[in-house]
Amino acid sequence: MELRRQTHTGEILDPLHGFEPLRTSVEVRWDPLVGYASRLVRGRAPLLSPTGADLAELAARTREGCPFCTERVMTVTPRLPVRVHPSGRIRRGEALLFPNVLTYWQHSAVSIYSPERHLLPLDEMDATLVSDNLGTQVDFIRAVAASDPAASWASINANQLPPSGSSLFHPHLQGGADPQPSTLQALFAEVTAERFEEYLRTERRIGERFIASTGRVRWLASFAPIGFHEVRAVVAGAASPAQLDDPAVGELGWGIAAILNLYAELGHQSFNMALFGAPAGHDTLLNLRMVCRSNLGDAYRSDVMYSERLHWQAMVDTSPEELAERARARFAG
Ligand SMILES: [Zn+2]
Repeated sequence: MELRRQTHTGEILDPLHGFEPLRTSVEVRWDPLVGYASRLVRGRAPLLSPTGADLAELAARTREGCPFCTERVMTVTPRLPVRVHPSGRIRRGEALLFPNVLTYWQHSAVSIYSPERHLLPLDEMDATLVSDNLGTQVDFIRAVAASDPAASWASINANQLPPSGSSLFHPHLQGGADPQPSTLQALFAEVTAERFEEYLRTERRIGERFIASTGRVRWLASFAPIGFHEVRAVVAGAASPAQLDDPAVGELGWGIAAILNLYAELGHQSFNMALFGAPAGHDTLLNLRMVCRSNLGDAYRSDVMYSERLHWQAMVDTSPEELAERARARFAG
């Protein structure tokens, strides 16, 4: 498998050095699975600021009236129809799942890590919290599959904090099942299981972006990141989240928590995550991707500009290889 990259150079007359000529460069990389382009740029100041608003202060301002907090969650959130799940809501450990009031997908659910955790910074994410929450979404997707087999395109996703698209401060996951795939779901579903394995073998041989294998799940930094600090994971032997058994949920939860802890160490608190494949039985592999989003701040720069939104091409100034090196330390031992 070819990992395609090109570097293009330019020149400016640099005001910081008496307008002497200065060579500039940008590296273009193409994703080896679905082909989109990504640009690795180098600026003088980081594009993604590692400092942001005081989360404790934001939590205090948003706690009153929060529909996901303990005092309200059981009375203001919807229940699942009995034909989908007899108990109306799904629990695992502290996690609680209920239908989303916004129908993003034909069947949409929200799950909170805990009604007690209105404030849950990324450095406090742990394997149990993430696995239990992920587990409620797997239970939901299985329940939907049993009651509405046509809604077979499922995904488990996360927005955390407003820069990532979250409208509520209280940390949560979002799951969905629908008769139709999203754009990238459709593109990734065309990648066969063998092609995913070839990608993993290639990255494992090269080594600089491969993070670890935790058993059934292989973790790596994306060669051509779709956003800042993109980490991918590929699950062997499954196409749909509905096929995740408890050990696989635990393995994913552990790894996601480790990456979120790393994001916190890098200074980031907002992230997006998507775990999807295709309907069970499809020749592809279930895969997870996660990226950092901008920190909230007074005059923060969005990590998504014209390039990401309208050219479908990320412009990042962070290194996948350095990210993998830092992540490997967390996955070792
Ligand atoms: Zn809350």
